[in-house]
Amino acid sequence: MADKNSKVSGNVPGPFYVDSNCIGCEACAQTDPDHYVMDDSGTFAYVFKQPEGDAEREAALDAQGVCPVDAIGDDG
Ligand code: SF4
Repeated sequence: MADKNSKVSGNVPGPFYVDSNCIGCEACAQTDPDHYVMDDSGTFAYVFKQPEGDAEREAALDAQGVCPVDAIGDDG
């Protein structure tokens, strides 16, 4: 489970975030590029836009589901 006290830099305020367990696999950014993006360093992702509405929230949750290390939280 992601830890809202260990958010990576770049996350915009709101429920969804990436935490420091991220290993930079890019799966979230590939699954939901409207909300997740890789940092310029390529070593981690962050949430650059919070989802709005049910469809976007589903997309953000799909990305959460593909994260191999449970680094995405929705309780921020
Ligand atoms: S899917 Fe998880 S580990 Fe991979 S880049 Fe996204 S947050 Fe990081």
